Amino acid sequence: MERLVDLKDISDGRLYSRDDLVRAGCGNCEGCSACCQGMGTSLVLDPLDVDRLCRGLGATFQGLLQGPLELGAADGMILPHMAMKGEKERCSFLNEEGRCKIHSLRPGFCRLFPLGRFYENRSFCYFLQVHECPKKNRAKVRVSKWLDTPDIGKYEEFVSRWHYFLKDTGDFLRQKQDQELSKKVCVYILERFYAIPYNGEFYSVFFERLTEAERLLA
Ligand code: SF4
Ligand code: SF4
Repeated sequence: MERLVDLKDISDGRLYSRDDLVRAGCGNCEGCSACCQGMGTSLVLDPLDVDRLCRGLGATFQGLLQGPLELGAADGMILPHMAMKGEKERCSFLNEEGRCKIHSLRPGFCRLFPLGRFYENRSFCYFLQVHECPKKNRAKVRVSKWLDTPDIGKYEEFVSRWHYFLKDTGDFLRQKQDQELSKKVCVYILERFYAIPYNGEFYSVFFERLTEAERLLA
């Protein structure tokens, strides 16, 4: 989700690449689950997050929307996010001990936190959010290790292209000011990128679908 803030107010003033060391290491997050509750609609899921959850839990996108996920407006689109439930607004995957029940399937934003992404020139870098995670004395860790995501080069290409696809589409729809068209595009994106399974070939199928969508929207 795009945020209009000055980077120097929320970061240590540095930008990081995947090979850099950054003070993000919170140990095992023992005793803390601050970023798993009260997050509102900010834990937006990308198609890889949903594919990973569907395959790992043996669920469908529609099924997940009946439970741990919700749809909401994000940057001019309708996109899924982690639902925060109950009085304490907790993620459904947080157990009674304050641990993530689906650690190996957790979404990209959960892997990233307390890092953020800074997008520029059709690419992005990482930054450290200094006011978000309450853990003191965080250890230095390599960004790629912190993300704990296989095939990191491909993953970053996916993140970048998905971000700019949504941005370009949102800009286009804002320019058109056509509610019917916006609705059609949102439904298309939800169906094409989230609901239809990738059958174990995530990146190749995703990039094919993206090329097709970019062509249609052009
Ligand atoms: S806020 Fe920091 S320490 Fe707490 S759960 Fe999140 S990443 Fe871990
Ligand atoms: S998926 Fe896991 S890590 Fe992410 S918010 Fe939910 S409980 Fe926390």
